[in-house]
Amino acid sequence: MALTPHVLVVAGSDSSGGAGIVRDVEAVAAHGLRASLAVTAVTVQTHEAVTQVELSDAGLVEAQMRAALEANRVAAIKIGMLGTAAIVEGVAEVLADHRKIPVVLDPVIAASSGQVLLTDDAVAALLARLMPRCRLITPNLPELAILVGGKMARDEAGIFDQAKRLLEAGAAAMLVKGGHGQGQQAVDVLFQTGAPPLRFEGPRLTGGMRGTGCMLSSAIAAGLANRMTLEESVKTAKGFVAGRWEMG
Ligand code: PLP
Repeated sequence: MALTPHVLVVAGSDSSGGAGIVRDVEAVAAHGLRASLAVTAVTVQTHEAVTQVELSDAGLVEAQMRAALEANRVAAIKIGMLGTAAIVEGVAEVLADHRKIPVVLDPVIAASSGQVLLTDDAVAALLARLMPRCRLITPNLPELAILVGGKMARDEAGIFDQAKRLLEAGAAAMLVKGGHGQGQQAVDVLFQTGAPPLRFEGPRLTGGMRGTGCMLSSAIAAGLANRMTLEESVKTAKGFVAGRWEMG
Protein backbone atom coordinates (compact mmCIF):
# COMPACT_ATOMS: atom_id res chain seq x y z
CA MET A 1 0.00 0.00 0.00
CA ALA A 2 1.37 3.41 -0.96
CA LEU A 3 1.97 5.70 1.99
CA THR A 4 -0.42 8.64 2.23
CA PRO A 5 1.47 11.85 1.39
CA HIS A 6 1.83 14.50 4.07
CA VAL A 7 1.49 18.25 4.05
CA LEU A 8 4.02 19.71 6.45
CA VAL A 9 2.33 22.51 8.39
CA VAL A 10 4.70 25.15 9.80
CA ALA A 11 2.45 27.37 11.89
CA GLY A 12 1.22 28.64 15.24
CA SER A 13 -1.51 27.24 17.48
CA ASP A 14 -4.67 29.10 18.47
CA SER A 15 -6.37 27.86 21.65
CA SER A 16 -9.82 28.91 20.39
CA GLY A 17 -9.49 26.62 17.35
CA GLY A 18 -10.60 29.55 15.19
CA ALA A 19 -7.34 29.85 13.27
CA GLY A 20 -3.84 28.41 13.10
CA ILE A 21 -2.79 24.77 13.29
CA VAL A 22 -6.25 23.35 14.10
CA ARG A 23 -7.62 24.86 10.89
CA ASP A 24 -4.59 23.73 8.88
CA VAL A 25 -4.92 20.12 10.01
CA GLU A 26 -8.69 20.14 9.39
CA ALA A 27 -8.10 21.33 5.82
CA VAL A 28 -5.32 18.84 5.10
CA ALA A 29 -7.36 15.92 6.49
CA ALA A 30 -10.41 16.95 4.45
CA HIS A 31 -8.28 16.49 1.32
CA GLY A 32 -7.45 12.89 2.23
CA LEU A 33 -3.89 13.69 3.28
CA ARG A 34 -1.99 13.54 6.55
CA ALA A 35 -0.31 16.44 8.30
CA SER A 36 3.19 16.69 9.79
CA LEU A 37 3.89 19.61 12.07
CA ALA A 38 6.42 22.23 13.07
CA VAL A 39 5.00 24.51 15.79
CA THR A 40 6.31 28.07 15.50
CA ALA A 41 4.29 29.57 18.34
CA VAL A 42 1.73 28.76 20.98
CA THR A 43 -0.91 31.45 21.31
CA VAL A 44 -3.63 31.98 23.89
CA GLN A 45 -6.70 33.31 22.10
CA THR A 46 -10.44 33.63 22.29
CA HIS A 47 -12.31 34.64 19.14
CA GLU A 48 -12.00 38.27 20.26
CA ALA A 49 -8.48 38.64 21.61
CA VAL A 50 -4.95 37.28 21.70
CA THR A 51 -3.75 37.31 25.32
CA GLN A 52 -0.41 35.49 25.12
CA VAL A 53 2.11 34.50 22.44
CA GLU A 54 5.00 32.13 23.21
CA LEU A 55 7.35 31.78 20.25
CA SER A 56 9.33 28.64 19.56
CA ASP A 57 13.10 28.82 19.43
CA ALA A 58 14.20 28.97 15.76
CA GLY A 59 16.34 25.85 16.20
CA LEU A 60 13.33 23.97 17.53
CA VAL A 61 11.28 24.92 14.45
CA GLU A 62 14.11 23.82 12.19
CA ALA A 63 14.50 20.50 14.05
CA GLN A 64 10.75 19.79 13.86
CA MET A 65 10.78 20.43 10.11
CA ARG A 66 13.82 18.23 9.50
CA ALA A 67 12.33 15.38 11.58
CA ALA A 68 8.98 15.61 9.74
CA LEU A 69 10.75 15.57 6.36
CA GLU A 70 12.81 12.57 7.41
CA ALA A 71 9.87 10.65 8.85
CA ASN A 72 7.29 11.12 6.10
CA ARG A 73 6.70 11.57 2.40
CA VAL A 74 6.07 15.31 2.50
CA ALA A 75 4.41 16.35 -0.78
CA ALA A 76 3.81 20.02 0.05
CA ILE A 77 4.62 22.52 2.79
CA LYS A 78 2.25 25.14 4.17
CA ILE A 79 3.75 28.01 6.14
CA GLY A 80 1.62 30.23 8.37
CA MET A 81 2.56 32.31 11.42
CA LEU A 82 6.34 32.69 11.78
CA GLY A 83 6.74 35.38 14.45
CA THR A 84 10.37 36.42 14.21
CA ALA A 85 13.18 36.92 11.68
CA ALA A 86 15.15 34.10 13.37
CA ILE A 87 12.32 31.64 12.72
CA VAL A 88 12.01 32.87 9.11
CA GLU A 89 15.76 32.27 8.64
CA GLY A 90 15.53 28.80 10.20
CA VAL A 91 12.64 27.80 7.93
CA ALA A 92 14.52 29.15 4.88
CA GLU A 93 17.56 27.02 5.81
CA VAL A 94 15.47 23.85 5.80
CA LEU A 95 13.68 24.72 2.56
CA ALA A 96 17.05 25.23 0.85
CA ASP A 97 17.70 21.51 1.44
CA HIS A 98 14.32 20.44 -0.01
CA ARG A 99 13.99 22.43 -3.20
CA LYS A 100 11.49 20.21 -5.00
CA ILE A 101 8.65 20.36 -2.49
CA PRO A 102 6.05 23.04 -3.32
CA VAL A 103 5.64 25.65 -0.59
CA VAL A 104 2.54 27.77 0.04
CA LEU A 105 3.16 30.76 2.30
CA ASP A 106 0.34 32.56 4.09
CA PRO A 107 2.09 35.75 5.25
CA VAL A 108 0.40 35.98 8.66
CA ILE A 109 1.22 39.45 9.94
CA ALA A 110 -1.61 40.25 12.37
CA ALA A 111 -4.72 38.61 13.87
CA SER A 112 -8.17 40.02 13.05
CA SER A 113 -8.16 41.49 16.57
CA GLY A 114 -5.11 43.58 15.62
CA GLN A 115 -2.44 41.67 17.57
CA VAL A 116 0.82 41.70 15.58
CA LEU A 117 2.06 38.18 14.85
CA LEU A 118 5.19 39.02 12.82
CA THR A 119 7.91 41.52 13.75
CA ASP A 120 9.05 44.23 11.27
CA ASP A 121 12.48 42.68 10.72
CA ALA A 122 10.76 39.35 10.09
CA VAL A 123 8.80 40.95 7.23
CA ALA A 124 12.09 41.91 5.57
CA ALA A 125 13.51 38.40 6.09
CA LEU A 126 10.34 36.86 4.72
CA LEU A 127 10.59 38.96 1.55
CA ALA A 128 14.28 38.27 1.01
CA ARG A 129 14.67 34.66 2.16
CA LEU A 130 11.32 32.91 1.93
CA MET A 131 9.26 34.53 -0.79
CA PRO A 132 11.57 33.56 -3.69
CA ARG A 133 11.34 29.91 -2.59
CA CYS A 134 7.52 29.73 -2.55
CA ARG A 135 5.24 28.31 -5.23
CA LEU A 136 2.53 30.65 -3.98
CA ILE A 137 2.02 33.36 -1.38
CA THR A 138 -1.49 34.24 -0.24
CA PRO A 139 -1.66 37.78 1.20
CA ASN A 140 -4.92 39.55 2.02
CA LEU A 141 -5.11 43.26 1.15
CA PRO A 142 -3.62 44.58 4.44
CA GLU A 143 -0.79 42.02 4.21
CA LEU A 144 -0.09 42.88 0.57
CA ALA A 145 0.19 46.55 1.55
CA ILE A 146 2.66 45.78 4.36
CA LEU A 147 4.75 43.54 2.08
CA VAL A 148 5.15 46.33 -0.49
CA GLY A 149 5.41 49.08 2.13
CA GLY A 150 2.30 50.99 1.03
CA LYS A 151 -1.30 51.75 1.96
CA MET A 152 -4.07 49.16 1.56
CA ALA A 153 -5.27 49.06 -2.06
CA ARG A 154 -8.79 50.39 -2.48
CA ASP A 155 -9.52 49.23 -6.03
CA GLU A 156 -8.39 46.69 -8.58
CA ALA A 157 -5.87 49.04 -10.18
CA GLY A 158 -4.22 49.49 -6.77
CA ILE A 159 -4.16 45.73 -6.17
CA PHE A 160 -2.62 45.09 -9.62
CA ASP A 161 0.05 47.71 -8.98
CA GLN A 162 1.04 46.26 -5.58
CA ALA A 163 0.93 42.68 -6.90
CA LYS A 164 3.18 43.63 -9.82
CA ARG A 165 5.70 45.10 -7.39
CA LEU A 166 5.74 41.93 -5.32
CA LEU A 167 6.23 39.77 -8.44
CA GLU A 168 9.14 42.01 -9.41
CA ALA A 169 10.53 41.54 -5.88
CA GLY A 170 10.78 37.79 -6.48
CA ALA A 171 7.40 36.16 -5.83
CA ALA A 172 6.64 33.44 -8.41
CA ALA A 173 2.90 33.56 -7.85
CA MET A 174 0.52 35.27 -5.50
CA LEU A 175 -3.15 34.88 -4.66
CA VAL A 176 -4.38 38.23 -3.43
CA LYS A 177 -7.44 37.61 -1.25
CA GLY A 178 -10.16 40.22 -1.66
CA GLY A 179 -11.95 39.52 1.64
CA HIS A 180 -11.02 42.94 3.04
CA GLY A 181 -12.39 44.74 -0.03
CA GLN A 182 -15.90 46.00 -0.79
CA GLY A 183 -18.95 44.54 -2.60
CA GLN A 184 -21.08 41.40 -2.33
CA GLN A 185 -18.67 39.24 -4.28
CA ALA A 186 -15.16 38.69 -2.88
CA VAL A 187 -12.71 38.45 -5.75
CA ASP A 188 -9.37 36.74 -5.26
CA VAL A 189 -6.82 37.33 -8.01
CA LEU A 190 -4.02 34.93 -8.93
CA PHE A 191 -0.91 36.73 -10.26
CA GLN A 192 1.91 34.76 -11.86
CA THR A 193 5.02 35.94 -13.65
CA GLY A 194 4.53 35.60 -17.38
CA ALA A 195 0.78 34.90 -17.24
CA PRO A 196 -2.30 37.15 -17.20
CA PRO A 197 -4.02 37.61 -13.81
CA LEU A 198 -6.79 35.09 -13.09
CA ARG A 199 -9.88 36.13 -11.14
CA PHE A 200 -11.69 33.79 -8.74
CA GLU A 201 -15.06 35.14 -7.72
CA GLY A 202 -17.00 33.85 -4.73
CA PRO A 203 -19.63 35.04 -2.26
CA ARG A 204 -18.27 37.34 0.45
CA LEU A 205 -17.97 35.20 3.59
CA THR A 206 -19.42 37.61 6.13
CA GLY A 207 -20.11 36.95 9.79
CA GLY A 208 -16.60 37.04 11.16
CA MET A 209 -15.59 33.42 10.59
CA ARG A 210 -11.93 33.19 11.54
CA GLY A 211 -9.21 31.03 10.08
CA THR A 212 -10.32 31.28 6.45
CA GLY A 213 -6.80 32.31 5.39
CA CYS A 214 -5.24 29.38 7.24
CA MET A 215 -7.70 26.93 5.70
CA LEU A 216 -7.35 28.34 2.20
CA SER A 217 -3.56 28.14 2.12
CA SER A 218 -3.55 24.64 3.63
CA ALA A 219 -6.19 23.48 1.15
CA ILE A 220 -4.11 24.87 -1.74
CA ALA A 221 -1.03 23.06 -0.39
CA ALA A 222 -3.13 19.87 -0.19
CA GLY A 223 -4.20 20.36 -3.82
CA LEU A 224 -0.57 20.71 -4.91
CA ALA A 225 0.31 17.63 -2.84
CA ASN A 226 -2.45 15.81 -4.72
CA ARG A 227 -0.74 16.85 -7.97
CA MET A 228 -3.35 19.38 -9.06
CA THR A 229 -2.20 22.43 -10.99
CA LEU A 230 -1.96 25.73 -9.11
CA GLU A 231 -5.17 27.01 -10.72
CA GLU A 232 -7.08 23.81 -9.90
CA SER A 233 -5.74 23.86 -6.36
CA VAL A 234 -6.89 27.46 -5.81
CA LYS A 235 -10.34 26.78 -7.29
CA THR A 236 -10.88 23.63 -5.22
CA ALA A 237 -9.55 25.30 -2.06
CA LYS A 238 -11.94 28.21 -2.44
CA GLY A 239 -14.84 25.78 -2.75
CA PHE A 240 -13.64 23.96 0.35
CA VAL A 241 -13.46 27.13 2.47
CA ALA A 242 -16.91 28.31 1.27
CA GLY A 243 -18.31 24.88 2.24
CA ARG A 244 -16.81 25.13 5.73
CA TRP A 245 -18.26 28.61 6.09
CA GLU A 246 -21.73 27.29 5.21
CA MET A 247 -21.34 24.61 7.91
CA GLY A 248 -20.76 27.47 10.40
N1 PLP B 1 -3.53 33.07 15.25
C1 PLP B 1 -2.77 32.26 14.55
C2 PLP B 1 -1.91 31.27 15.24
C3 PLP B 1 -2.79 32.35 13.13
O1 PLP B 1 -2.03 31.53 12.39
C4 PLP B 1 -3.61 33.29 12.49
C5 PLP B 1 -3.71 33.42 11.04
O2 PLP B 1 -3.19 32.71 10.27
C6 PLP B 1 -4.38 34.12 13.28
C7 PLP B 1 -4.32 33.99 14.65
C8 PLP B 1 -5.22 35.15 12.68
O3 PLP B 1 -6.42 34.62 12.35
P1 PLP B 1 -7.67 35.57 12.30
O4 PLP B 1 -7.30 36.66 11.36
O5 PLP B 1 -8.74 34.68 11.77
O6 PLP B 1 -7.88 36.07 13.70
